[in-house]
Amino acid sequence: MKRRVVVLGSTGTIGKQTLDVIDRVGDRLETVALAGNRNVALLAEQALRHAPAWIAVGDARAAEELAERLRGRWSGEIVSGPQGLLEVVSVDAEIVVNALVGAAGLRPSLTALRLGRTLALANKESLVVAGEILARAATTGKGRLLPIDSEHSGLFQCLEGRDRETLRRVILTASGGPFRTWPLESLSHAKLDEALNHPTWKMGPRITIDSATMLNKGFEIHEARWLFDLPPERIDVWIHPQSIVHAIVEFVDGSMLAQLSATDMRLPIMAALTYPERPSAGLPRCDLTQAGRLDFEPVDPRRYPCLEIARRALETGGTAPAALNGADEVLVAAFRDRRIRFNDIASILERVLDEHRSGPAETIEIVLEADAWARDAATRILDRS
Ligand code: MG
Repeated sequence: MKRRVVVLGSTGTIGKQTLDVIDRVGDRLETVALAGNRNVALLAEQALRHAPAWIAVGDARAAEELAERLRGRWSGEIVSGPQGLLEVVSVDAEIVVNALVGAAGLRPSLTALRLGRTLALANKESLVVAGEILARAATTGKGRLLPIDSEHSGLFQCLEGRDRETLRRVILTASGGPFRTWPLESLSHAKLDEALNHPTWKMGPRITIDSATMLNKGFEIHEARWLFDLPPERIDVWIHPQSIVHAIVEFVDGSMLAQLSATDMRLPIMAALTYPERPSAGLPRCDLTQAGRLDFEPVDPRRYPCLEIARRALETGGTAPAALNGADEVLVAAFRDRRIRFNDIASILERVLDEHRSGPAETIEIVLEADAWARDAATRILDRS
């Protein structure tokens, strides 16, 4: 029997790659619902190709436009707005892929887990902002949380079936981004196009800037903490410029296992959607003799202060990670608008965290409040400078 899949964020980078994976292993997976925001042209194309029974769009106007485009060619339900998203999450299915962007992904993630779905999660905010809430929902409900992130997919593949007592630590790898070899004093002059020039992965602008500051890796420590119930001090980061080894697991006897593959997000997507099978889908392979060498180095905290800032937010816990994420979104936008320098991202993040009074992260409303507070706080600092 085919696994039924709901794809949230189907018009984004990960969403499109998810549909490509479903196409490639069409004997095992089928799309039952799609959700996109306002890219109606692409949603219409996806509806005709993948024949879902449901589509959710951002608002009523996009819903009308989509219905118009599909008239007479597709029969299914179109729903809209945040409520529409929750409706398609509730469609009868085994897997919900959450590739939404930003805080919009929180409630759908929680709903999927409460309904007992397998949640294949690419929406980082879900775990950074509401990791504690989601981890709780996954343990109390019948749902299962699977990562769509290369490092966590690697960890998942190395950890699956292992006795946790035998685990010493895990290591996430980081490419080091475009500024790995820059002289430290040049970093404050780093230009937008230089920060957007990621050496190994092609991704959206926010995550690319977050990779240059390495806050993205900091967020991945948060994700690993909640996905695998690991104490943060057992999650290390090593720089690995080739991005071929995605994660390493070290056991108490000193033995290590690593997961290696080409830098193509369709591989972790397929691993989540077809687990525990490993279908051959014609995706890129990795020839280590072509790569020639694999390098590893420790992270220099002076070059990547954001990694420590993220650790500090995780240690503080409660609403602090939500505040960090909200402030970062504002600061990355300000850097893209050339209002601040590259280095200012880290220093303003620190100031916002200093000001934040963290409380328990009990509900989605509470973490979203902290997120909104941090956006304001960052904006106030920007307006003053
Ligand atoms: Mg990653």
